Amino acid sequence: MKIAVIGTGYVGLVTGTCFADSGNHVICVDNNPDKLDLLRQGEVPIYEPGLETLFKRAIREKRITFTDDLSEAVKQSDILFLCLPTPPGADGQADLSAVVKVAEQIGDLIDDYKVIVNKSTVPVGTADKVRLTIESRTSVPFDVVSNPEFLREGAAVNDFQKPERVVIGTSSDRAAELMKELYDPFVRSGNPIIIMDERSSEMTKYAANGFLATKITFMNEIANICERVGANVDHVRRGIGTDSRIGKRFLFAGIGFGGSCFPKDVQALHYTAKENDYNFRILDAVQKVNDSQKLSIVEKIKKFYNGQVKGRTFGVWGLTFKPETDDVREAPAIYIIQALIGLGAHVKAYDPEARKTFPAAVGEEISSQIDYVEDQTSALQDVDALIISTEWNEFRRPDFDNFIKLMKEPVIFDGRNLYDLERMEELNITYFSVGRRGVN
Ligand code: NAD
Repeated sequence: MKIAVIGTGYVGLVTGTCFADSGNHVICVDNNPDKLDLLRQGEVPIYEPGLETLFKRAIREKRITFTDDLSEAVKQSDILFLCLPTPPGADGQADLSAVVKVAEQIGDLIDDYKVIVNKSTVPVGTADKVRLTIESRTSVPFDVVSNPEFLREGAAVNDFQKPERVVIGTSSDRAAELMKELYDPFVRSGNPIIIMDERSSEMTKYAANGFLATKITFMNEIANICERVGANVDHVRRGIGTDSRIGKRFLFAGIGFGGSCFPKDVQALHYTAKENDYNFRILDAVQKVNDSQKLSIVEKIKKFYNGQVKGRTFGVWGLTFKPETDDVREAPAIYIIQALIGLGAHVKAYDPEARKTFPAAVGEEISSQIDYVEDQTSALQDVDALIISTEWNEFRRPDFDNFIKLMKEPVIFDGRNLYDLERMEELNITYFSVGRRGVN
């Protein structure tokens, strides 16, 4: 099939590459000239495991090309995927300006039947909005489909190639058949393609992310109580995760969720509810708890040092919102580092992938005060304490003897519960984690 992918970010590039890998011809459109330069040179502008190999093969086999010219892409393609940003506006409402702008352009450009597929996460009713926008500019037949994306950054290629389900929202049989044919190679193991109306499909994405954000937040609240009553959230997690009604995944307590999806989608769903005269109280609580959870580690630091944080130096391991990505959008590390520097502390930060993405996210002024170091050991040199804010695998088994020698005092504030309490006790490391007792 001939496919256009409009917006070549985390979702668009993975979508385009995986469709090219399954034998389609893909033309990727983006309006960021720097990104296009890199893509045309065969470089992957983001870090996503497994993507580069597929991407290079698709280029070699001439199944993927890049352009800033939407008209070229519309002319050459039967199916147009919108993978555009939908960031939160000031009031939490999803900003649809990129989607609407591209819909207008498509309306002006189409000259024969096309399927326009929205893969961006968008409020209920957006498929109708896109349809009306295009309809107002052309009499050429077309269909609009909602096809929300469920990939996880860090595992995006695998998630795209082996989706647990594909959701397709459309009222057109013709579009549904084309979409089934396109996705067929990815669901050969029997996972379902679920066809529904556009509005239910749009809601499915928000319901999924809202539910997952709530599940994490619930566990974080359990962790906060565990700390106060002397229970261990790791045991509690195992105790409840074995209940098949609850399930084992998404039960790890930590310093809150971040990323480009959960925070914005929770806000957008809350906004949609409000707009429709419904107060989605759980989501309100989820946002508030998550905001304070991100800073819970700073509260522990202040308490441990009796408020005397000024002039101290902290090593920070992990700046991304999760491991195996370079994405730092809404990462807890942003808020923790801003707070510590605001309190007069110094920060040495290390992350395997975020050196380029973090400065803009934390703000240039704060960033200029961070000492970015090249490896995890350098982040320990002469620091008062180590903060772990992302669970990169390489942080799981450090050389603790070296650790103790390098730091001023062996003190760890672990936002991801990477270490055994008993081991910390044996090593005489002062250790604070989430939902477990403090050690030493
Ligand atoms: P992104 O910011 O990484 O990528 C968006 C791309 O669109 C950028 O490359 C940008 O330059 C380009 N762009 C913006 N306006 C454009 C225009 N007018 N014409 C052409 N290109 C344009 O965003 P993302 O993380 O890929 O997310 C895209 C959508 O998918 C969002 O709605 C998001 O909520 C949703 N989503 C994201 C994920 C994820 O894990 N990142 C997962 C599922 C769904």
